[in-house]
Amino acid sequence: MFSLKEPICYTTDMKDTQIKKLIDTEKKRQKSVINLIASENYVSQDVLDALGSELTNKYAEGYSGARYYGGNEIIDKVEDLCCERALKLFDLNENEWHINTQPLSGSPANLAVYVGLVPQGAKIMGMSLDHGGHLTHGFKVSATGKFWTQVPYGVQKETELLDYEALKNLAIAEKPAIIVAGYTAYPRKVDWKKFREIADASGALLMVDMSHLGGLVAGKVYPSPFPYADIVTTTTHKTLRGPRGALIFVRKDERGLDKKIDKAVFPGLQGGPHMNQTAAIAVALKEASTPAFKKYAGQILKNATALAAELSKRGWRIVSGGTDSHLILVDTWMNGAGISGKEASDRLEAAGIIVNKNTIPFDSRSPVDPSGIRLGTAAETTRGKKEKDFKKIAEKIDQVLNAKKK
Ligand SMILES: *Cc1c(COP(=O)(O)O)cnc(C)c1O
Repeated sequence: MFSLKEPICYTTDMKDTQIKKLIDTEKKRQKSVINLIASENYVSQDVLDALGSELTNKYAEGYSGARYYGGNEIIDKVEDLCCERALKLFDLNENEWHINTQPLSGSPANLAVYVGLVPQGAKIMGMSLDHGGHLTHGFKVSATGKFWTQVPYGVQKETELLDYEALKNLAIAEKPAIIVAGYTAYPRKVDWKKFREIADASGALLMVDMSHLGGLVAGKVYPSPFPYADIVTTTTHKTLRGPRGALIFVRKDERGLDKKIDKAVFPGLQGGPHMNQTAAIAVALKEASTPAFKKYAGQILKNATALAAELSKRGWRIVSGGTDSHLILVDTWMNGAGISGKEASDRLEAAGIIVNKNTIPFDSRSPVDPSGIRLGTAAETTRGKKEKDFKKIAEKIDQVLNAKKK
């Protein structure tokens, strides 16, 4: 594959020295920090090469075999190959699943699903932002909360876990058009089967947004939502370790959801697809289908478990008591016994550890200075770190946060 130690490579002969300098400086920054941002990763040189290729020059409005511009013979092959690799990676049958490779990123992918399938004003049942949902799950400042009505749900207060019985009652009472599962800050396993039952009991579509989990599902270290969902969306740049972008998987059947979603992406929301991006996604999907990637995914989980255990041992409260993924939510505030999420994040950045401040469920503080931080192990696992390294990272985090605590 590619060297884990040197995941970032640079253009050496750019004539635009101003931008070159900024790129090189950012490269240096990326190399010099410990990156615990749960949604980031480092892509291979092959992914960068595809992204930086001449495919960016081509207009390809439409879909493979049905374009609005000439000269798309080769571009069609790129898109077809990307679809083929996506099906293979997630063990899907082409008679059962349709794939749209064109959404420019995760948010536009989710928007396209609603534009295609949810009547304006109808209800989207999604986790509220402060419990770990994404903006595009119907939150009020997002277009998805302006054109549709969110039925928010959260985790249970005592356990900080999903309460499927309560979700079922809510769905039956509210009758949403679509239920969205899959989150940005929920560290535990989600029972996709239970979500299927809830969707069936309330007559809703089930969309799983596995943006954070794509690489873990691909590596078979996290349960696959495909047996249960009508629609699966994922970003390609988080645990999947590809370029920024997204994929929409749609179940093919007599409901014709696939046609509706394709129309929503183009011409509904977008013009020409970014074919350099599609090619780079195809590269990442192939990389993700290797035994080395499966090992990588397993290591992400081991590292997260080690990090959570060590922080917990050192007295920090881990939301929900642990993790089943790459992601850990730490309650740094601990009802005033600790420090705020913003202060924690600022202090860690000064010490070379990059994290993000994050609300915790039922947060008593504000989103701009919440009670917690979110940590993820995908990026540093790409750089070859193992459990013992994460134990050391936990030690360092503890030192930095404690400097103020006592
Ligand atoms: C990251 C993420 C998105 C949005 O992706 P962007 O590429 O930032 O638009 C959507 N949903 C979830 C659950 C995510 O984690």
